[in-house]
Amino acid sequence: MPTRTNFTLDGREPEPSALPAVKGKLYRLYLPIVICLALVTVALAFPQPSPERTIGLGAIVVWALTYVAFVLKRTPLRWLEQLVLLNGMSCFLSFQACELFFTDVYSRSHLFSVMAPLIYVWSFVTLGTRRGMVASLTFYGLSVALGVTALVLSRFTSVALNPDLNGMLHLQFYVLSPLYIGLMYGAATLLDAQTVARLGEVTRQAYTDPLTGLPNRLRFGEALEEMLAHAERTGERFALLFFDLDNFKMVNDVLGHAAGDEFLRDLAGRWRGQVRAGDLLARISGDEFAMIVRSRGGAEEVLGVAERLIHAARIPFYAGGQTHLVTASAGVSLYPEHGRDASELLSRADLAMYQAKASRRGIVLFQPALTAERERRLTVQQYLRGALARQEFTLHYQPIHDLGSRRLVGLEALLRWQTPALGPVSPAEFVPIAEEAGLIVEIGTWVLREACAQSRTWRAAGLTPPAVSVNVSPAQFERPDFAEWVLATLRDHHLPASALSLELTERGTLHPAACEHLAALRAHGLHVALDDFGIEYSSLARLHELPISGLKIDRCFTQALGTAGGGPQSGAQTVAHTIIALAQALNLRVVAEGVETDEQVAELLAPDCHTAQGYLLGRPVAPEALTALLLAECERPSLVG
Ligand code: C2E
Ligand code: MG
Ligand code: MG
Repeated sequence: MPTRTNFTLDGREPEPSALPAVKGKLYRLYLPIVICLALVTVALAFPQPSPERTIGLGAIVVWALTYVAFVLKRTPLRWLEQLVLLNGMSCFLSFQACELFFTDVYSRSHLFSVMAPLIYVWSFVTLGTRRGMVASLTFYGLSVALGVTALVLSRFTSVALNPDLNGMLHLQFYVLSPLYIGLMYGAATLLDAQTVARLGEVTRQAYTDPLTGLPNRLRFGEALEEMLAHAERTGERFALLFFDLDNFKMVNDVLGHAAGDEFLRDLAGRWRGQVRAGDLLARISGDEFAMIVRSRGGAEEVLGVAERLIHAARIPFYAGGQTHLVTASAGVSLYPEHGRDASELLSRADLAMYQAKASRRGIVLFQPALTAERERRLTVQQYLRGALARQEFTLHYQPIHDLGSRRLVGLEALLRWQTPALGPVSPAEFVPIAEEAGLIVEIGTWVLREACAQSRTWRAAGLTPPAVSVNVSPAQFERPDFAEWVLATLRDHHLPASALSLELTERGTLHPAACEHLAALRAHGLHVALDDFGIEYSSLARLHELPISGLKIDRCFTQALGTAGGGPQSGAQTVAHTIIALAQALNLRVVAEGVETDEQVAELLAPDCHTAQGYLLGRPVAPEALTALLLAECERPSLVG
């Protein structure tokens, strides 16, 4: 016999435990109806006070109490079923005793012929074929024993039988009952296999996501409740993981839903391989997944599990003739530290996931401080909405220099936002919020136009500004005419393609339409640089496929330079040197970001990195403050010729 456990979680198998849950839902409705019907029947059949009426009402009270206990989750389903069965049997036997002995009881033996088959059916349904058969025969045996006892007593003692007793109906019951039991057993054995299989299939479908074959939101919700009840009883700890795909909407929008579905199936297959027995992974909506992880090793172990899944999601997939990368973010909440009920745990894991997405950290464990951060994000978002209309944005420009000649070779346009309510807010904070709120396309459009207008203003004043770099967010590639729009903006401002260059992060290249737009712009001679290189996904497999002409080494690597003092190189230093060598091998222009010291300059020059940007060379400043620098550049003798 299979062992019964109250808690069975395994994402790999269809859940047998789903069956009681479906039954539970049925009983919730079914039992109150049965109780009401029984009340009406007893009231109609026994209008006067009588032992039979007392027995009937007693049985109803027992059912009602059991039902209340069941609703309050004090009675497991199988006990409820057995209590209903036992109650029915004892009720029947009491009726029988009344009819056999009590002379003043009006005989209602026909109840026998109705009640007995009902009890047989119930015992087969609730106990299963074999145990149902044993229970029915035991019940029948008790009933026969009661009848025989009555006969013996009336024959050999002074106890008299009820003169109203309807002997014929009793006889029918004794004769027909074995027949009923045999019939029930036969029918149940025949139907059993089919019904169980069909019910199992229906339940499996109700609990499974048809696309990925993973448990769905319904199953996840129930499994979480089961896990909470189990954890409360046993003190076991567990974690809730919430996953969201970062750029999945783009896959769907650009490559179509068939490619999106294919990706989800593929991802579910990879993730399924990472789920340990006893844990449960479910797809709870389009690109959201949730997981219950039973943790013996605490937060460390859980973060390790999340890390493995995030890593498994990062494998590039091939669609529409290109390799694509979709990434995932995860939020984690722990039971009991972060919540004791499902909604608390879920909302906290969700909040942590939001933070993981916004900070691009991949995985974030819930902390109470996140609630304050969320509030700040909402405030910033609220003020961002009208910021363009209120003309609160400006652009500052940071010089990019050639390290050897110290000549100005570029300017990076950096967005600045100042609002009376919040003061100056860093773009590192508000740009991700604008991206999330769907405001970045509008803001990015303004930035590109403003940068072009500024370049035109300088040119009109007789200056020769170098190319202005503009940062582009992934969402901007959603514009189907992005490349044409950039070229049209240049034309509107009478600027050559060399007046502008674009910077996008590796995340930006993940947009399925990015390569097409960038290739079109590259064909017109625009410089395109990969920003903050080295800190995000760095899929080297894709690097040579990308239509880019430059790399910007992230500040964190530059700042590791010039610190070794002749000692062994740090990891970050090695990475900086490797990126420079890689860029050179791929014929890409490389710019070091965040140069702050002369030692860093010296160390950049050694591996032949000649272009840099940083506070040492010039901070981002308002355009007026650059005029003097641009004038000086004009007056410097040209290196060429
Ligand atoms: P980014 O594109 O990597 O820009 C460089 C950031 O590094 C700027 O920060 C700049 O002020 C800072 N920086 C430059 N040199 C140094 C240095 O020597 N030391 C240090 N500690 N920092 C230095 P900022 O202006 O706060 O911008 C942050 C990020 O916000 C930018 O990083 C970019 O990703 C984003 N951003 C800024 N403007 C825009 C925009 O117009 N559109 C979009 N989509 N993103 C923007
Ligand atoms: Mg940049
Ligand atoms: Mg950068």
